[in-house]
Amino acid sequence: MRIDKDSKLVVLTGAGVSAESGLKTFRDNDGLWENYHVEQVATPEAFLADPELVWRFYKQRYFQLNEVKPNPAHHALKKLEDYLEDNLWLVTQNVDGLHLIAGNKNVIEMHGSLRTCFCSRCHQNYQMVEVNLDSAIPLCEKCGGYLRPDIVWFGEVPYHMGRIYNLLQNTDYFLVIGTSGIVYPAAGFLMIAMDSGARTIGVNFEAPRNASMIDEFHSGKAGEILPGLVERWIGQ
Ligand code: NAD
Repeated sequence: MRIDKDSKLVVLTGAGVSAESGLKTFRDNDGLWENYHVEQVATPEAFLADPELVWRFYKQRYFQLNEVKPNPAHHALKKLEDYLEDNLWLVTQNVDGLHLIAGNKNVIEMHGSLRTCFCSRCHQNYQMVEVNLDSAIPLCEKCGGYLRPDIVWFGEVPYHMGRIYNLLQNTDYFLVIGTSGIVYPAAGFLMIAMDSGARTIGVNFEAPRNASMIDEFHSGKAGEILPGLVERWIGQ
C-alpha cells in the first residue's frame, strides 16, 4: 500500500514505542511503572498524600531522559511527517518527549511532559530546567505553592481532547503503535477513527485489547517493523 501525499494521517503512540529506547512500559511490568505502583505515583491523591515520594519518582524519570534517545520507530515517524507534512498529526500518551527530539513538529502530548511542571496553587508553568530539583518538593517562585509534575494523572482529563477528536473525525488513516488499548480515553480513539471511515493500522508487540477495530495489524517490535512500513507507504 502507498499513502498519497494528500492523505490525512493521525498516529497514536504509547509506551511501547519508547521501549526500544530503554524506557519501561506499564503492562510489560505487571502494571508497575519503573517498580512503582501507579496509585503511588500517578494520581492526584498520591501527590496529596506524599508529594516528596511523587517528586522523587518524577525527578528520576526526568533524569533518566539524559540516558535515552529516539529509536528507529521514532525516526520512521519523523520521516512520515517529512512526507505528509501538516497532513500528519502525532498524538502521544508518552511523557518522554522523544518524538520531539526525533524532530516531529506536529506532536500533541496528551498526557503531559516530564520536562515541564506547574504550580498546584496558581498554575504558573515552569520548564524543569528552571526549577531547583535539589529541593524535596520544589516551590513556585510566584506564590510559594507546591510545584507538581506536568503529567496527566489517573482521574485527570488529558490535554487537547477537542483538537484530538477533531483530527480523528477527519483522518484517512489512523495508526496506533505500542499501546495496550487499556487506558482511556486513548483506548477509545480507534472506535472514533473507525466510525469516521478511516483505515486503521496497528503495530504492537502483542494484540492490544481493542484489536478487533484494527483493519491491518503488524505484530512485533515497533523499531523493527515501522521503518519498513513507512518506506513502503511513501514509496521508497
Ligand atoms: P502500556 O504500558 O499500557 O502498553 C504498552 C504496549 O506496548 C503493550 O501492549 C506492549 O505489548 C507494547 N510494546 C512493548 N514493547 C513494544 C515494542 N518494542 N514495540 C511495539 N509494541 C511494544 O502503555 P500505554 O498504553 O502507553 O499506557 C501507559 C501509560 O503510561 C501512558 O499513558 C503513558 O503516559 C505512561 N507511560 C509513559 C512512558 C513513556 O513516556 N515512555 C512509559 C511508561 C508509562
